[in-house]
Amino acid sequence: MKIAINGAGVAGPALAFWLLKGGHEVLLVEQAPAIRRGGYVIDFWGLGYDIADKMGLIPRIRELGYQMKEVRFVDEEGRTSGGFSVDVFGRMTNDRFTSVRRSDLASTIYDAVSDRIETIFGDSIASVEETGDGVRIGFDHAASRDVDLVIGADGLHSRVREIVFGPESQFEKQIGYHVAAFEADGYEPRNELIYVGNSVPGRQVSRMSMRDDKTLFLFVFEDKYISEEPTDLEGRRTAIREIFGEAKWECPKILDELGRADDIYFDRVSQIRMDTWSKGRTALIGDAAACVSLLAGEGTGLAISEGYVLAGELNKCGGNYAEAFARYEATLMPFLRKKQLTAAKFASSFAPSTALGISFRNLVTKLMRIEFIADYFIGRDLRDDITLPEYDY
Ligand SMILES: Cc1cc2nc3c(=O)[nH]c(=O)nc-3n(C[C@H](O)[C@H](O)[C@H](O)COP(=O)(O)OP(=O)(O)OC[C@H]3O[C@@H](n4cnc5c(N)ncnc54)[C@H](O)[C@@H]3O)c2cc1C
Repeated sequence: MKIAINGAGVAGPALAFWLLKGGHEVLLVEQAPAIRRGGYVIDFWGLGYDIADKMGLIPRIRELGYQMKEVRFVDEEGRTSGGFSVDVFGRMTNDRFTSVRRSDLASTIYDAVSDRIETIFGDSIASVEETGDGVRIGFDHAASRDVDLVIGADGLHSRVREIVFGPESQFEKQIGYHVAAFEADGYEPRNELIYVGNSVPGRQVSRMSMRDDKTLFLFVFEDKYISEEPTDLEGRRTAIREIFGEAKWECPKILDELGRADDIYFDRVSQIRMDTWSKGRTALIGDAAACVSLLAGEGTGLAISEGYVLAGELNKCGGNYAEAFARYEATLMPFLRKKQLTAAKFASSFAPSTALGISFRNLVTKLMRIEFIADYFIGRDLRDDITLPEYDY
C-alpha cells in the first residue's frame, strides 16, 4: 500500500521503519522545514527501548543520550532536600534506561529510513477525502496526492485528528498543569548528570546540564497561575516571570537567562483520550492518538510501540486495513488507558501544591534507595504490563 504519514516526530518515522519491512511505500510529511534539533530531554525505557533495540538503534541513542546519575531536589538555599539515585530506575529496567533529547531520538529513527521513503518538509496534510478505493490528500503547499491510507502522527495537537475525527476539545483531558522549557548557553552552576529541581507550592523549576556548555530548564506549574494562554515569545516570558518571580534558589538568575532565550516551549499538560483511533482509511498513532502527557515520562516509548504494532498488523493483514486497525486498537488501547490513569494520578508529585506536599514528596524520594519503597511508589508503574506481538519479518 501507499501510506502517507503526517508528522516526522518519534511515532511517524518508527511506523515508517516497520512499514518498510512489509514492502509498503511511505510518504512522510513534516511541517517543520527540516528534522528538528535541540529541545527538551526525555527519559527512554520500557517497550519503546526494546523495540528501538530490535531496530538496532540503541547504541546510537545511548551515545547521544545522558546516563543520568541522580535526581536532586534542593531548598531555596540550594541544600539537598530530597531526591534519589537513578540506579533505582536502572535496577528496575535492567539498565535499559537513558535520557536523550526528543529530537535526537526522532532524528536517529528518521535517519534509519530517510533514504527509503519520500519526505515532504515544510508542509502539512490539510485535507483527507475518501474516494472509494483510496484517499485523496491535500496539502498546505504541495499538489494533492492519492494514497491508500493516512496516518496522523502529528503529535498532541494533531491536525489529521482535527480534520478526520473532530476538534481537539472532544478528546483532550487536561491534567491541571502547564509546562515550559528553554535552553541557555554557559549557565553556571553546572551539575553533570544530575537533574536539579526546586519546588515552591504548585510550581517547580529544574535544570539539567547538557553537552556543549548548554543547560536545559524545565518549569512545571499548576494551571491556576495562567489566566490566558500566552501566544508569542514575549507573552511566554512574561507569564513565566510572573509565576516564578518570587521563587528563590537560582530563580532570579534563571529568569534572567529566560530574557535571552529565543525559543521557549510552553503548553498545557494534556492527555488525548479517544474511543477509537481509526476512521475509514485514516488512523492515529503516538500523542495524536493517546498522549499520556509528559508526566508519564514514557510518551516516546509508547509512540514507538504504537508504530510497531500498527505496522505489524498492516503488514500481515493482506490489504484488509480495517481489520489491521481493529487489531492495533484491541492490542494497545486498554494498556494505554491504564498508563494515562497512572500518569494523571502521579501528576502532583512534579509540583506538589502545598509545602507539606513538597516535604512528603522529598521524604519519599529519599527513601527510594530502599528497594521495596521504590517498588511501591514507582516500580509497578514503571514496568510495562503487556507483551507485544512478535511479527515475522
Ligand atoms: C517537556 C516535555 C517532557 C517530556 N518528557 C518525556 C519523557 O521523559 N519521556 C517520554 O517518553 N516522553 C516525554 N515527553 C512526551 C514525548 O515527547 C511525546 O510523547 C512523544 O514525542 C510523542 O511522539 P509523537 O511522534 O507522537 O509526537 P511528536 O514527537 O510531538 O512529533 C510530532 C511531529 O509532528 C509534526 N507536526 C505537528 N503538526 C503537524 C502538521 N500539521 N503537519 C505535519 N507535521 C506536523 C511536529 O513538528 C513533530 O515533528 C515529554 C514531552 C514534553 C513536552
